[in-house]
Amino acid sequence: MKAKKNKRERSPQMQQVSAGLRDVLGMTEWRKEHPKATWAEIEAAVDERMNQLRAQLLQEVVQMGETEAWNQLPPEERPRCATCGKLLLVRGEQTRWIQTTGGEAVKLTRTYGTCPACGVGFFPPG
Ligand SMILES: [Zn+2]
Repeated sequence: MKAKKNKRERSPQMQQVSAGLRDVLGMTEWRKEHPKATWAEIEAAVDERMNQLRAQLLQEVVQMGETEAWNQLPPEERPRCATCGKLLLVRGEQTRWIQTTGGEAVKLTRTYGTCPACGVGFFPPG
């Protein structure tokens, strides 16, 4: 047991969020339906829901940093070809799925472009 390691008080905000999540995630109901659940069962039920929430949160936070709609940016801010420096042409969006450590998959949509000179495709860093 590494009980000492993370033995810090949770912030009032965290307690508030947790109390809200308990209902939103259905844990309040779940607990009523499983009054004799063991620690491990409760932990597994919480983990399952938290992993889904974690994936959703990850997706939102990651997308916040995406340079969305960079074709609408002024030219000087648009991504350039890493090879020749020409402005990239928007070729549309690509979706990919990333596996999280919680076992959930996160969907990411990114704009990608090609260089008009080299024809190379790029995902601008973001
Ligand atoms: Zn180029």
